[in-house]
Amino acid sequence: MSAAPVRSASLPSYDEASSIVAERAVEVGRRPAAERVDLGEAVGRVLAEPVRADRDQPPFPRSTRDGFACRAAEASQHKSLIVAGSIHAGQPPAGPLPEKAAWEIMTGAPVPAGADAVAMLEHVERAGKVPGKIRLLPPHVLEPGENLVPQGAEARAGDEVLPTGIRIGAQHIALAAACGCAVVRVFQRPRVAILTTGDELVPVGAEPGPGQIRNSNGGMLAALVAQAGGQPWILPTAADTDRDLDEALGQAVAADMLLITGGVSAGKFDLVEPALARMGARFHFTGVRIQPGKPLVFGHFAESKHPGAQKRGTPFLGLPGNPISSAATFLLFGTQVLASLAGSRPSGPPFVLARLAKEVKGKPNLTRFVPSYCKFNPGGGDLPEVRTVPSQGSGDLVSFARSNCFLVVPEGTDRLKAGATVRILLV
Ligand code: AMP
Ligand code: MG
Repeated sequence: MSAAPVRSASLPSYDEASSIVAERAVEVGRRPAAERVDLGEAVGRVLAEPVRADRDQPPFPRSTRDGFACRAAEASQHKSLIVAGSIHAGQPPAGPLPEKAAWEIMTGAPVPAGADAVAMLEHVERAGKVPGKIRLLPPHVLEPGENLVPQGAEARAGDEVLPTGIRIGAQHIALAAACGCAVVRVFQRPRVAILTTGDELVPVGAEPGPGQIRNSNGGMLAALVAQAGGQPWILPTAADTDRDLDEALGQAVAADMLLITGGVSAGKFDLVEPALARMGARFHFTGVRIQPGKPLVFGHFAESKHPGAQKRGTPFLGLPGNPISSAATFLLFGTQVLASLAGSRPSGPPFVLARLAKEVKGKPNLTRFVPSYCKFNPGGGDLPEVRTVPSQGSGDLVSFARSNCFLVVPEGTDRLKAGATVRILLV
């Protein structure tokens, strides 16, 4: 770790940089303050206290079929059973079940005491008038426990069913609802400052003058931050001057995390690293052997060096300005730091396997992350099929918008052949 923005002679590889980030993420990680939100608003939030089952799940032995509750041994003799009653979902438990009898039952209803299985409607014949008799048709036989879920088989009253730190998805909302949690305690979202830099940038609503372009990174990063569980705080774009950068960084350091885009390459107007250094930044790396994103800078402001910084340090990422480089480096590294600040369980970037449709070349000293399109239903039960999207490079937003993932071409790979099993990073 250096206190000055010295470009490393030998940059870390993707894996090395990723471990550095993971380690530092733990160091700057903290337990955020909690707040209560309605369950309906909780998707994407991080649970701040466990959810416990308020009663057994299921709360009664639940039939999973429409049919007849019975004793498996009796029914499997294929003799007639008297239908002793009928129950549907929502009715209080009935029974007990008399000997040599069955109980008509609907899916979701409590299985009457004494019954140990449910014969499916499709597997029985009915005889006689209502209430009548039923018989399990050969060759069907029943095992005890078939077509019912015993009370408490999923969870017992008081069991922790959702731990602190999970990112709440639809499946967790369903379970919390089943346990009566109309309101849940979640961590407050970390505030992530997004500082775009560059003299060429104008806001989305403005008409660009000659040589100017619209700021597309601000909105893109805000979306990525929100997706990753953070609260984006978009600052006004800073010009490529020391004064502007110093002022903007001075403001941004109050955030929980800081993303800066542009100005981290080796050009004459790449002034971000010196500005960070003036603020007392500690650099963990300044460059990674990846493409795109090689100039990526990662570090933190220590509270001792900067009174405005967070107690455990305010982490920052200086992302290269090219939009695809910004997106890739945030997804690869920024999400790890953010997860740690958000109080969520570490999971790492979502890499999955796919089958490569067409050959792709590698680079000797760089891991490539190539915008690609993955088809998730290739047919034939094969892996998802991925192909790169034709592109004009890391600034080609039109091509990026046609992609849904990055293909990983590991460092030192001469080429990935068509048909190879490859890793992709989902966007
Ligand atoms: P830089 O990293 O500042 O050298 O910028 C690299 C490229 O990304 C240049 O072509 C910039 O114009 C472009 N760029 C930088 N910041 C943004 C932004 N916020 N939105 C869109 N393009 C940008
Ligand atoms: Mg620039």
